[in-house]
Amino acid sequence: MRLATYSDGTREHTGIVIGDRIVNLAAAAQAFGLPPCHDDLPGCIRAGAPALDTLREIARRCEADPSKGVPLGSVRLLAPIPRPARNVVCVGLNYADHVAESASVVGAAAPQFPVLFTKPPQTVIGPDAEIPWHGRVSTAIDWEAELAVIIGREGRDIAEDDALSYVFGYTIGNDITARDLQERHQQWYKGKGLDGFCPLGPVVVTADEIADPQRLDIALRVNGETKQSANTRQMIFSIARLIAEWSAGMTLLPSDILLTGTPSGVGVGRKPPEFLRPGDLVEAEIPAIGILRNRVAAA
Ligand code: ZN
Repeated sequence: MRLATYSDGTREHTGIVIGDRIVNLAAAAQAFGLPPCHDDLPGCIRAGAPALDTLREIARRCEADPSKGVPLGSVRLLAPIPRPARNVVCVGLNYADHVAESASVVGAAAPQFPVLFTKPPQTVIGPDAEIPWHGRVSTAIDWEAELAVIIGREGRDIAEDDALSYVFGYTIGNDITARDLQERHQQWYKGKGLDGFCPLGPVVVTADEIADPQRLDIALRVNGETKQSANTRQMIFSIARLIAEWSAGMTLLPSDILLTGTPSGVGVGRKPPEFLRPGDLVEAEIPAIGILRNRVAAA
């Protein structure tokens, strides 16, 4: 299933995307006489397996009835989890070719263990939302297309073999980074933590529909020009390993978000370096999920 959070102009809802339609889950559950459905995605995720069964039943009935739902173009999609309860957890240096190009910024050595850092909740913005222009504090704002994992249930000390069973679904993240702040502050929180620096979306594809999350093409374009093009099979640490390492001694909660690292082709690694400018259109794409499109705001 393809799930989304959207605004109908007045309120936020959770929807299921079927073709070019979106169906309000809570309203559909009521109309079909099914168990009540939460009208927010974290609520649906927390409700666990029985809620997923209800969502599947709604999807089945709506697929058979094209009169259900409204055109996707008539609503505004938001980030699937617009206000995360906790920081977004990210992994630095998880593609070998990106480690090599990052030599000048963060050192060249491939890590022995995942490099974990976080982005505060205020970084999260939705598809088609503007990335704020922070030209006053940075002149080196960069892009990073990443596969994002949404955690489905609570767990700690999760075994690598069992780790993917904790995944609710997948979406796309853009780990926007101010390279000058990242370099100046030595650690990554500030340079990657400015408001609006974590576009997420456009939808969450549930884990059952992604046959192998380590076989996904991932790309990023700026103003239509391809800057990154790779496949998640090139990750140094697999998604399962990342979840095992992250959860060692730390409790993961439903709706926690993990960005799994970016491949090569970021702006700082190019010769000469390239950075985002006001008005630039940035598109991160994972074909199995969709396109996460954001424009940088005007100066
Ligand atoms: Zn990143």
